[in-house]
Amino acid sequence: MALDTNTGIAPYDAPEKELYEIGEMPPLGYVPPKMYAWAIRRERHGEPEVSFQKEVVDTWKIDSHEVLVLVMAAGVNYNGVWAGLGKPISPFDVHKQDYHIAGSDAAGIVWAVGDKVKNWKVGDEVVIHCNQDDGDDEECNGGDPMFSPSQRIWGYETGDGSFSQFTRVQAQQLMPRPKHLTWEESACYTLTLATAYRMLFGHHPHELKPGQNVLVWGASGGLGSYAIQLANTAGANAIGVISDESKRQFVMDQGAKGVINRKDFNCWGQLPTVNSPEYNEWLKEARKFGKAIWDITGKGVSVDMVFEHPGEATFPVSTLVVKKGGIVVICAGTSGFNCTFDVRYMWMHQKRLQGSHFANLKQAASANRLMCERRLDPCMSEVFTWDQIPQAHTRMLRNEHKPGNMAVLVQAPKTGLRTFEDALAAK
Ligand code: NDP
Repeated sequence: MALDTNTGIAPYDAPEKELYEIGEMPPLGYVPPKMYAWAIRRERHGEPEVSFQKEVVDTWKIDSHEVLVLVMAAGVNYNGVWAGLGKPISPFDVHKQDYHIAGSDAAGIVWAVGDKVKNWKVGDEVVIHCNQDDGDDEECNGGDPMFSPSQRIWGYETGDGSFSQFTRVQAQQLMPRPKHLTWEESACYTLTLATAYRMLFGHHPHELKPGQNVLVWGASGGLGSYAIQLANTAGANAIGVISDESKRQFVMDQGAKGVINRKDFNCWGQLPTVNSPEYNEWLKEARKFGKAIWDITGKGVSVDMVFEHPGEATFPVSTLVVKKGGIVVICAGTSGFNCTFDVRYMWMHQKRLQGSHFANLKQAASANRLMCERRLDPCMSEVFTWDQIPQAHTRMLRNEHKPGNMAVLVQAPKTGLRTFEDALAAK
């Protein structure tokens, strides 16, 4: 069959319709006026099974620098959980749309391009990174776009995310899809991988270096599993933390030098008042945790970096165990936002505390190249169907998900497919 010279895709018969069922393919490049989406509305804020509801909505119109992508598969992240709950903020306080379509990770096919888009064409297979900005300020032109006043996260601070048949993104959000991965594997990794990349390598002069040691909280999770693998690509040693022995082998398989079970220690939560009996107990236990690190790194060798995201529960320990002149880099407060620490250790040992948030395009693209070069495993844990999108988020909310990153099928009719042609044939 002759291939289209622009897209390289064989023509196929499909009628032009107002709305397509999930998994049904419109003609390549034909944009139906309506689409299915899992929508959150302000009056439904709550647990995922309440806040996420299936709706038929208008398909997005795109601007000159934007791209419409047919979503083949999407990734599941905390962003969807937070957006559904409306905590710590409601997405409706950020954007003015009536409904919010969550989803900050996707793999799909370019379906329409704005007239100023040069680097992408209809038919291109892509993954999407979630950082948007207006591109017109000094941080976007010579600085770091993550510091731009217009910086926002697609699918969280914008309402046009990936839990719908089509998603609308800025052209600069697209990156080539690793062709050796399935649609769902390609969809599951970009948000957490790029975040981990910036945390480890984005904060000069504390970029993780060969031979250094990094303590990785939640080592079996989305961020953690990539932090371990990325540390290996840099020739550093990762010490992973878990809460259940069933996760130990998974973390070792990602290349950790050693694994510590946090359930063996009792020093979690806010710092007790300094020098109180509770503080002295806490310090004893935290030092025991530090000793468990030394059992892996060598006596007296503290970690150069702590990869933080649990927040309130772990922060006092993170700031204690990091070495003199080391860095605690933090991107979240999953267990709570009221982080406390003993500032004496911070100043006397000249430690650095660094906030980190997603990644700029250069960092996301560098991380994506490692995936395309097969130097990283996507660590996809589970795949859910379109109908199971709320349940997947409930698993995440309850910390009941399996190690790695979850994906959901959108237009891909089944798992294991690697191309657009595969998807057409499977139908
Ligand atoms: P996952 O659920 O996949 O992993 C988080 C891990 O944290 C869990 O597996 C768990 O591992 C561990 N954890 C949970 N509670 C605690 C606790 N009280 N103390 C210590 N460890 C705990 O989530 P992600 O890795 O995808 O995301 C983690 C956080 O990072 C979320 O809050 C998310 O919103 C945020 N995030 C922020 C980004 C940003 O750009 N700012 C980007 C990506 C994520 P175990 O129980 O085995 O210890």
